[in-house]
Amino acid sequence: MRVRALIQGIVQGVGFRPFVYNLAGEHRLAGQVANDGRGVILELEGDEAAVEAFFAELIARKPPLAHIVCVEREEIEPRGETEFRIAPSRGEARKRTLISPDTCVCEDCLAELTDPADRRFGYPFINCTNCGPRYTIIKGIPYDRPLTTMAAFTMCPACQAEYENPADRRFHAQPNACPACGPQVRLTDPAGNAVETAEPIAAAAEALAEGKIVAVKGLGGFHLAVDAASETAVDRLRRKKHREEKPLAVMVGDLDAARRLVVLSRPDEELLVSSVRPIVLAPKRPGHGLAEAVSPGGKYFGVMLPYTPLHFLLLAAFTRRRAGGALVMTSGNISEEPMAITDEDALSRLGPIADLFLLHDRDIFARADDSVAMSVLGLPRVIRRARGYVPRPVFLDRDGPSVLAVGPELKNTVCLTRDNEAFISGHIGDLENLETLKAFEATIDHLESILEIEPEAVALDLHPDYLSTQYAEKIEGPPLIRVQHHAAHILSAAAELGLDLDKGAVVGLALDGTGYGPSVDGGGTIWGGEILAVNKTGFTRLGHLSPFRLPGGSQAIKEPWRTGLGLLHLAFGEEWPEHLVGFTRRAEGRIELLGQMMDRGVGSPLTSSVGRLFDGLAALCGLKDRAAYEGQAAIELEAALDPAEQGAYSVEIVTQEDGFVLDPRPLIHRAAAEAGRGAPAGVISARFHRGLSRALAEAAQRAAAEAGTKTVVLSGGCFMNAWLLTDLVGRLEVRGLEAAVHRDVPTNDGGVSLGQALAARLALEAGDLEMWTRPKDL
Ligand code: ZN
Ligand code: ZN
Ligand code: FE
Repeated sequence: MRVRALIQGIVQGVGFRPFVYNLAGEHRLAGQVANDGRGVILELEGDEAAVEAFFAELIARKPPLAHIVCVEREEIEPRGETEFRIAPSRGEARKRTLISPDTCVCEDCLAELTDPADRRFGYPFINCTNCGPRYTIIKGIPYDRPLTTMAAFTMCPACQAEYENPADRRFHAQPNACPACGPQVRLTDPAGNAVETAEPIAAAAEALAEGKIVAVKGLGGFHLAVDAASETAVDRLRRKKHREEKPLAVMVGDLDAARRLVVLSRPDEELLVSSVRPIVLAPKRPGHGLAEAVSPGGKYFGVMLPYTPLHFLLLAAFTRRRAGGALVMTSGNISEEPMAITDEDALSRLGPIADLFLLHDRDIFARADDSVAMSVLGLPRVIRRARGYVPRPVFLDRDGPSVLAVGPELKNTVCLTRDNEAFISGHIGDLENLETLKAFEATIDHLESILEIEPEAVALDLHPDYLSTQYAEKIEGPPLIRVQHHAAHILSAAAELGLDLDKGAVVGLALDGTGYGPSVDGGGTIWGGEILAVNKTGFTRLGHLSPFRLPGGSQAIKEPWRTGLGLLHLAFGEEWPEHLVGFTRRAEGRIELLGQMMDRGVGSPLTSSVGRLFDGLAALCGLKDRAAYEGQAAIELEAALDPAEQGAYSVEIVTQEDGFVLDPRPLIHRAAAEAGRGAPAGVISARFHRGLSRALAEAAQRAAAEAGTKTVVLSGGCFMNAWLLTDLVGRLEVRGLEAAVHRDVPTNDGGVSLGQALAARLALEAGDLEMWTRPKDL
């Protein structure tokens, strides 16, 4: 018999054709295999039993990086062939294949890298069909060398022979290279002048050991590296990079070195050594020996292991000089701009920061930041989804039209859908400057082109001022579908976890810093503590945190003391106890003025944000009156929590006409009184966390009963708080509810684009493009 099969999924660039070739050989089957725009096309000829055995093993033994989504088979006329061959790619069909993410160097390649007898000994660009660069070097598909940034290198006879030998591990490995024919590293000064050295990597390691800053061109962009144990070097990097307090990621040589820095759970270790190689957030271990400036005031270090051969060699050379040493490896950018990916851009933007540049001539086509993950409740949770994950799709429960979702403002990602696939872009950043906006536009263009997607609708946030909103409004043609931010959060988790919205509503707790909420009087209000019921035709706002005022509006994000005042104003009104406002040194005589502004409702918008509630509490208990970045005060409030303290403040749930509110006034009264008496921040933090969690569980149960569901979706940036997430999930389970929690998609705003995309598809399905713009009446 002869069978033709179309295999779809991640089947190109992952060693699939050589695998098929060898498997066909084992079963003595003739025929051919080829890449085409939809996946892999396979024809097999032989006896029926052999064909069936082949397909069973195809699934069971697939290459490590392959992901088979479906196999479509049909029987065709036999041709009497006796050989199996690999046929040339066919690019003419619709380009429907999936591209593999970039992958950490594999064990086989590492063994060769460190074998003095191997022809690739010490070669920083070693790779094979099971590992190496993919997404970041692909300019178009089908995935073949001419459409990658490796097109500039012609393989030497030895590499070409591997590439053409179906039995070789490098058969059709598109980035295949060796020291004779492939990319090379070089060391330069900040002006781009070559630094003479036979061993650029060793020279870079030497400079790092001396406390210098080295810009390192990696896989998806540049890093800035310094010795993580050197207080002066790390301080100098921070000053030059204009990064005051955000934690810096560190890279260590191996798992043992990581264990000496941080306390790792088993899932943390699995994450660290996984082929994605994310930055893993884990609690600092006492006596870690790193500079205080790496993660000032924080509870965690972000740690990663080397993932490219270049990183392995650099860490090996560095740790020869500093046994067990660690390198700060932070993105090569200034402040909040996107990371540099070209040599020119790196030299011009990072020139004033780095003392040396470790460059190479394999171009990076698509930017990929390091991914960030942590484990909570025994499972890995992705916080920043980029390198190693992109462009792996989230599979939706059904086919539908292609849509583009442009994401929110902070931690922006975009999302494109194609049939049942949703492709979330890598982390783009905060859309607050021109450089990031350009990266945002380039990402949309790149994804649309490699995925061949022409969106039939565009999903966007309700906020009129977001740059992503303004970008979407300029697109001509496809209809715009506006999606309320917190509904998008809940839909994001629904999409990721495959929740069945056809069966009915789910309850969603969307807790975050800021999102635009629709308002009856036209002006937007700031939401962020929302209890929603969401189904496939829209959402209802069942409950929310009692709104309080933010004196100075968005200034309160970086000045939590203002939020602290807002909370006192909510709890005590105009008559707030004077002695309690001593918590802020920054208020400097403005307290009375701000109080009057809040009384009159001027310059002090109302918010129901739980993220801001955390900020305000951090200020009230004297932890943080000024934040260097959004969410810092909340993070430090969690870090301060005293695990031995078992008390809880109370939050009242009050029924109103338009649903119920979580009224935090009793909580604020007690927290303020205890802070005024000088109670430790760790005690106040514990009582606050536990009290809030208890109230949220009660509210969720009430909402679930109203909505007729057992499923409670938790989404929003507040759920990066591991204590809150763990405690609340436990409380929900005790109440017989099922908590649905993000895993591969960030719970923060990095996941919002996926929710927008699902919202747009549901809106098109229902024929109502407005259904996500405001809640339905109760
Ligand atoms: Zn390999
Ligand atoms: Zn070669
Ligand atoms: Fe959000």
